[in-house]
Amino acid sequence: MPRDGSRRPAGDAVPLAPMDIGELANPPFAVLPDPASVFLRRAERLAALAPGHQLEPYLHFLSQLTRAQHDILDALPAPTLPPAERLELARANTMPPISTGHFVLDDAADKTFAALLKSLEAMDLAPSPRATLAKVVALSNDERHGMMRAILLDEIPGDAIAEHVLAAATVQVIFTRMAAKLDVATLSRVADGACPSCGGAPVASAIVGWSGAHGTRFCTCSICATQWNVVRIKCLVCSSEKGIAYHSLEGGAETVMGETCDTCSSYVKMLHQHKDAALDPIADDVASLALDLTLKKEGWERASVNPFLMGY
Ligand SMILES: [Zn+2]
Ligand SMILES: [Zn+2]
Repeated sequence: MPRDGSRRPAGDAVPLAPMDIGELANPPFAVLPDPASVFLRRAERLAALAPGHQLEPYLHFLSQLTRAQHDILDALPAPTLPPAERLELARANTMPPISTGHFVLDDAADKTFAALLKSLEAMDLAPSPRATLAKVVALSNDERHGMMRAILLDEIPGDAIAEHVLAAATVQVIFTRMAAKLDVATLSRVADGACPSCGGAPVASAIVGWSGAHGTRFCTCSICATQWNVVRIKCLVCSSEKGIAYHSLEGGAETVMGETCDTCSSYVKMLHQHKDAALDPIADDVASLALDLTLKKEGWERASVNPFLMGY
């Protein structure tokens, strides 16, 4: 039931029957991100989604921002993982090895933020993001640390969301590069709704079309882009396997759905990537904001995190 206790109206969102369990597959527990492709593919997806979209200016800006995330990679200092004893301690205690809660902002973090800003400065930005960029360029490293810390602690000030989008993009680059250096065999399940690499929240889940794992479900981390396997019909928040329903907008793409849970009244989006390999959790989550607005109106609470949808 929705949180306010009301019955779910028919509205535009149509509950669908649970899908058939996919073909026999043996999915890996986790898949580490590939920094060389993750931001580039996302930038291409955002650029493809933007034309004619209600959110065209924002999607276009995000395609520029994610392109900048990609463009700066080669010139950055090599990422440093926590010391071996810290990684071992995390492994022994089933904790995420590069926990966002323990991250120390260092010189490499400053250089990453500065490189991102410089890359954006060279782009043909619209006036609004250009003004936001100028504000962040004028800040000291200490002030930029404060912004990155706010992202890691999920304490974003409501009056500075646009600036923090740039900090979030920086944090994504830092953590994606660190996660890529982890040994995937040392990762273990923290919780269905928490990244095994950094402990971050999922941005969405996807039914993948990968060879050997076709039809299985993976969450994508909103911070480091690690993907982890979860059973197909289960609430990522309260672990209930009952009262799960799938909603899509009438007339909208049925490749992006809201997975709702009657037990805790929350929802997380699910992408049918096996039907369309171009779907990207971050990009398609932003582009399907209309689905969020409908689900919210019906009393469902968004449980996922997208650094480019702060404030929703
Ligand atoms: Zn993560
Ligand atoms: Zn639930």
